[in-house]
Amino acid sequence: MFNVSLKQLSQQLAEKKISSVELTGEFLKRTRALNPNYNAFITINEAMSLAQAEAADQMIASGHASLLTGIPVAQKDIFCTKGWLTTCGSKMLSNFTSPYNAGVIERFNRVGAVNIGKTNMDEFAMGSSNETSFYGPVRNPWDVSAVPGGSSGGSACVVAARMAPAATGTDTGGSIRQPAALCGISGIKPTYGLVSRYGMIAFASSLDQGGPMAKSAEDLALMLNVMVGFDDRDSTSLQREAEDYLRDLDRPLAGLRIGLPKEYFAKGMSDDVANTVEATLEIYRKLGAKMVEVSLPNAQLSIPVYYVLAPAEASSNLSRFDGVRYGYRAKSYSDLSEMYRKSRAKGFGAEVKRRILIGTYVLSHGYYEAYYIQAQKIRRLIAQDFTDAFKQCDIIMGPTTPTVAFNLGEKNSDPIQMYLSDIYTSAASLAGLPGMSIPIGFGDKNRPVGLHIIGNYFAEAQMLNVAHQYQLETDWHLRMPEI
Ligand code: GLN
Repeated sequence: MFNVSLKQLSQQLAEKKISSVELTGEFLKRTRALNPNYNAFITINEAMSLAQAEAADQMIASGHASLLTGIPVAQKDIFCTKGWLTTCGSKMLSNFTSPYNAGVIERFNRVGAVNIGKTNMDEFAMGSSNETSFYGPVRNPWDVSAVPGGSSGGSACVVAARMAPAATGTDTGGSIRQPAALCGISGIKPTYGLVSRYGMIAFASSLDQGGPMAKSAEDLALMLNVMVGFDDRDSTSLQREAEDYLRDLDRPLAGLRIGLPKEYFAKGMSDDVANTVEATLEIYRKLGAKMVEVSLPNAQLSIPVYYVLAPAEASSNLSRFDGVRYGYRAKSYSDLSEMYRKSRAKGFGAEVKRRILIGTYVLSHGYYEAYYIQAQKIRRLIAQDFTDAFKQCDIIMGPTTPTVAFNLGEKNSDPIQMYLSDIYTSAASLAGLPGMSIPIGFGDKNRPVGLHIIGNYFAEAQMLNVAHQYQLETDWHLRMPEI
């Protein structure tokens, strides 16, 4: 039950082989046993989850079920969830019970999916290891001395340890793809604007994008079908015709042109990652794909550009931390200032403070042109590199991360080293392109390796097809850590 696909779970529910209350109960039982080892959840509320499961069972009985009805899904604690503590990994919000639902949560509720708990994360999604969480670090289920990645490390851990069949994440510079890679699961960050940011606590609004994390590409497609859609409460939400992300899964890959950016393969990758990626490309060749060398000359600047722009946006959000954007209901201005003062007093963690400093600096008089404007210009060039590359190929591949999961504490004292774990993922974020990671084997110390797939704008169905065809040939996505 814990290692089967969402489609299979859905079928078992439809055929009444199991009820949602039973299914949810099984996952809760597993979570109760395992979570103390991993610290992957910030909030578990069995009564609330089971009440949702009961409602889902009624939905199924009345013939109104769809594919995710009754299926437990873990929600990253960045999504405001009505009646649930919503902390964003921060002490600041440690007493914040959200009075409203994020757009994403509404969409899961509408189809009768069950919220099985709120997952741990780096504070305000700033981090690559989950060590900046006020609620303590999450452990990697493949090796508890390793980090799970971040910022969606709780969600990645939950799926890898099979404490829930699927989870949500958010990705600003790599936070879905990097933890998916380090925990040996699948994850996709959709094209910017496809998934509503309403009620998704902001980090850097021009980059933030929600997306699913699950065992397989097929499961991701089911999740995306629920998550994607226009929301008029998010000013950057895209109004497009609905797509069925399952539609292309079975297409053969013959003739597919896979672009390999020469800059990504030149240096930086560790040998174990390089070998695993090479073996994977060999499978794609057997499936009929052709390899094309492409160039992303400005991609090497994506980390410095990201670390100017993301903190700049974050510092404007956080210095205007007025409570209202996090859903507090103040009755008056003085009420509001009081809330503001109280939450300020509780304080941010060290990494968030560092981001506010960087952000304030690059936006300040005299430095704005030299840093912020310059970074915006290079951001444009990075996006243009991809547009040029997609004239020669259909899809781009490379490693998701330069190394397998590092040890807890290993990069804590060296922010630059920590930031470099997004070296391959941040360029797609800056360009607003969809990016995905799938498990392709194991490297040093038997820790998982991820393949990064970047698609053109709105190419999610094609990327899922490319990933699914590989998963039909291999079983890395079905491997479970021994626990
Ligand atoms: N690791 C990056 C950071 O710390 C990206 C985080 C994210 O995508 N939310 O900012």
